[in-house]
Amino acid sequence: MVSKIRKCSCGRYTLKEVCPVCGEQTKYSRPARFSLEDRYGKYRRMAKKTIL
Ligand SMILES: [Zn+2]
Repeated sequence: MVSKIRKCSCGRYTLKEVCPVCGEQTKYSRPARFSLEDRYGKYRRMAKKTIL
């Protein structure tokens, strides 16, 4: 599955190539959910333990 959601530098999410709010060119937002999330999940769990 490929997400077609784009993000503008102003922080808006849109499906268009140009931000409807500020007119800037948008970029594909990458949720980075794959290996990154996995890798940090371990540390996040450790961090949670520390906080609790
Ligand atoms: Zn914008």
